[in-house]
Amino acid sequence: MSATFLGIPPFPEAARAAVDDSRTRHNLRRATHTIRDKRASVVGELNDDWQLLRAEGAAVKEHTLRHLDRYLEQLEESVTRAGGRVHWAADAEEANAIVTRLVKATGETDVVKVKSMATQEIELNNALAEAGITAYETDLAELIVQLGDDLPSHILVPAIHLGRAQIREIFLDQMAEWGTPAPPGLTDDPRALAEAARLHLRERFLRTRTAISGANFAVADSGTLVVLESEGNGRMCLTLPQTLISVVGIEKIVPTWSDLEVFMQLLPRSSTGERMNPYTSTWTGVTPGDGPQEFHLVLLDNGRTDVLADTVGRQALRCIRCSACLNTCPVYERTGGHAYGSVYPGPIGAILTPQLRGMSSAVDEALPYASSLCGACYEVCPVAIDIPEVLVHLREEVSAGRGHLGEKALMAGAEAVFSSSRALGAAQRAAGLGRNLVPGHLPGTAGEWTDTRDVPDVPAESFRSWWNKRGKGQR
Ligand code: SF4
Repeated sequence: MSATFLGIPPFPEAARAAVDDSRTRHNLRRATHTIRDKRASVVGELNDDWQLLRAEGAAVKEHTLRHLDRYLEQLEESVTRAGGRVHWAADAEEANAIVTRLVKATGETDVVKVKSMATQEIELNNALAEAGITAYETDLAELIVQLGDDLPSHILVPAIHLGRAQIREIFLDQMAEWGTPAPPGLTDDPRALAEAARLHLRERFLRTRTAISGANFAVADSGTLVVLESEGNGRMCLTLPQTLISVVGIEKIVPTWSDLEVFMQLLPRSSTGERMNPYTSTWTGVTPGDGPQEFHLVLLDNGRTDVLADTVGRQALRCIRCSACLNTCPVYERTGGHAYGSVYPGPIGAILTPQLRGMSSAVDEALPYASSLCGACYEVCPVAIDIPEVLVHLREEVSAGRGHLGEKALMAGAEAVFSSSRALGAAQRAAGLGRNLVPGHLPGTAGEWTDTRDVPDVPAESFRSWWNKRGKGQR
């Protein structure tokens, strides 16, 4: 059984421990700033076209989500016509049962995996392990996490919290347990580490006959699935085995092949800071004598239709998992991904996880507060998800559940006061008169603010009052 997020405390507690870890903070800062700078450079090349592409990406996703029922049926027909089989999974348990049954039917006990957030979300590896099936991760960062019995901390680079010396130790300690051992004398040179992983994985690719993947996109009109990657491990898994099982969230659909053009420009630039990623694999059903001869598509709901019903929150389903919001978030940079208690960390995790899980625990209720609402995530999001808007919306839900006045109501009150000179003057006079009565800790929702901050001292006299008196004296 691999590590699980179960038992991780709510964000404030987990984050407090995480920020004390200076080595992780150093690793994160270096890695996120490198990717962030690369992204800014390649996005900058497109000048104003970037905003047009971004708007187009958002529009395609929004349209697809509005008509998801139609496009899902079209996808099922297209995949079936091309020789694949489609399975519908309402939740994680059902998806895991379907995949386990499909793998067992092949008679295999080992499977290779392409990096996939959907299978992480449903903890497929653990479900397979319970059935006596070993899943081997083949993405380099996922391999590091698996060998280290660790948890992913980033969507794109799950081992971003580890430095190369730590990775070397993991390879030397663990590779032999899982297959080809690390070469003796392995150094922490990135090329040596990559070569060790390549040798370790190669023999696995050559002898494993069943593969499991996710997909970045599923094209409804052709039934084509698309995986973008950088290492070639995906291409190996998608072409060499006899059986391929792809677990895909229902929001990954795009209507037509030509819609892909937009995302092929948005995703590599936003994720790895490249104009185009090194490997883009597409497959449509099965082709006799070429690639896997059996293809299963497991379409996963697992809370997505509930998210779709929320008119504000559903924009989270536009996400193409690029990680740009993580790389730019000042909170993520300091806490790292584990503190979010989910495979979806960072700003997108703070809005997606509680919605997918139905705000069902203290961990979920804390996530919408894991943000300073600075808006940097919205600025970089290639599909223009207004993450701060959804965060405030979810905070309202949490406040309502606790019987507190919501943040929106407090903001509306503040707006009424600040937009009227007379109301502001009256509020300042009242605050000055009652200054000795202001408690150090405010009640209700405001208490969540004063939990971590001091209430500022209220001056006996406001600037406005002082200015008015001064003006009268001078006249
Ligand atoms: S929310 Fe936007 S920026 Fe963040 S991972 Fe998703 S698509 Fe990328």
